[in-house]
Amino acid sequence: METIKDIDLKNKTILVRTGFDVPLQKGKVVDNHRIVAGLPTIKYLLRQNCKIILIFHIGRPEGKVIRKLSVAPVQDELTTLLDLSIFKAPACTGKNIKEMVGSLEEQEILILENLRFYSGEEKNEENFARELASLAQVFVQDGFSVLHREHASTVGIPKFLPTVAGLLVAKEVGELGRAKDRPQRPAIVIIGGAKVETKIPVIDNLLKKRFDLALIGGTVANHFLALQGAGLKESLIEKDLLENCRKILERYKEKIILPSDFVWNNKGQIFDLGPKTICQYREIIRKAKTIIWNGPLGVFEEEKYAQGTGQIAEAIASSSAKKISGGGDTISALNKFRLLSKFDFVSTGGGTMLRFLAGEKLPGLEILKHET
Ligand code: ADP
Ligand code: MG
Repeated sequence: METIKDIDLKNKTILVRTGFDVPLQKGKVVDNHRIVAGLPTIKYLLRQNCKIILIFHIGRPEGKVIRKLSVAPVQDELTTLLDLSIFKAPACTGKNIKEMVGSLEEQEILILENLRFYSGEEKNEENFARELASLAQVFVQDGFSVLHREHASTVGIPKFLPTVAGLLVAKEVGELGRAKDRPQRPAIVIIGGAKVETKIPVIDNLLKKRFDLALIGGTVANHFLALQGAGLKESLIEKDLLENCRKILERYKEKIILPSDFVWNNKGQIFDLGPKTICQYREIIRKAKTIIWNGPLGVFEEEKYAQGTGQIAEAIASSSAKKISGGGDTISALNKFRLLSKFDFVSTGGGTMLRFLAGEKLPGLEILKHET
C-alpha cells in the first residue's frame, strides 16, 4: 500500500478524505480525538506546500442538507488545533467550489461541506465522484473509519485520481494488522458490549489465528452462557445468533473464557461481571503480552454496574502487554476511567476495526492495495 510518503506531492492540489465524523453539541465539537488523529497527514501535506481540500461526513443526513450537521464546527476546531485560518465551502460540487479551489494558495486548507448532504456519496454515484476528483491532482484516503463502506469517497474517487493512503490509515492498518497476524504471545482478546453480531466474527478470526484466549463479557457472554445451559433469567439474548455462537464454542472450547459470577439488575438481567470473574480475568491479563479489547464488560454507564469494565480496564492499563482498543462505547469507558492514554493504540474506527480484525475485506482498503 502506497502512502503519501511514497510519492511526490510537492506543490500539488490534494483531495483528502478524513474521518472527522465527530459528536457535536450546540455547534461545537465535543470530542476531537478523531480530528487529532488526522492531523499528521494534514501537517505533512502542509510541509509539502500542498493546497489541501478536506472532505468528510458528519452523522446521517441521508442525502439532505441538515444545518445542524454542517462541518462548520470542525472548521473551528481545526483552526484552533493548527493555528491557521481554514476556509469552508458551502457545498461539495459546482462552479462556485471549483472557483474556491482555483483561488487556493499553497499551504491553505479548504473544507468542503458534509459529503452525506449528497445522496451521490452513499450511492457511490460516478458523477459525484468524478466532480470531486476534478478538484485535485491526487486523492489521499485517510478516513479509516469509513473504509468498510462502498461510497464515492472510498471507492468512487480512486477511479478518477491517483490515490494513496494517508498516515492515519497506514497507522491503523499497521497496528491492527500486526496485532491480528503476528501478536506477541500469550495474546488475548477481551470482548464485551452489546452489538453481538459484530463481535462474534472477531472472536472466531483471532482464535483461528494465533490468539490464545478470548475473555468474554457484556451481552456477548450471555449467548455462550445460554448454550452451556446457565440460568440467565431475563438477560438479553438475540436468539438468531445462538447457532453461530454454538459453532465457535465447539471449535474453541478451551480458548473461550466465560464469566462465572454476575451482578444482576432488579429485572433479573445480568448487568456486570461478578468479583470472582473480575479476579480471574485480571490474572489472565497480567500474563498476556498482547491485549485487544473491544466492548464494555457491563452497563458501565451506571455506577452500580461499572466495576467489571473499570477494573478490567485498570488491569489492562497496568499490564506490560501491547494494548490495543477501539469501539465508540469502549472509548467512552476509557475516557470515563481516564485510561485512554495508557493504551498503545486506540483505533478511530469502531465498525471498521471489528471488520478488519474479523478478517473481512474492506472495499476502501482493497482499492488502496491495488493502486500503484
Ligand atoms: P462498542 O461501541 O465499544 O463496540 P457496543 O456498542 O457493542 O460497544 O456495546 C456498548 C454497550 O453495551 C454499552 O452501552 C453497555 O451499557 C452495554 N452493555 C455491556 N454489558 C451489558 C449487559 N450485560 N447487558 C446490557 N448491556 C450491556
Ligand atoms: Mg457502540
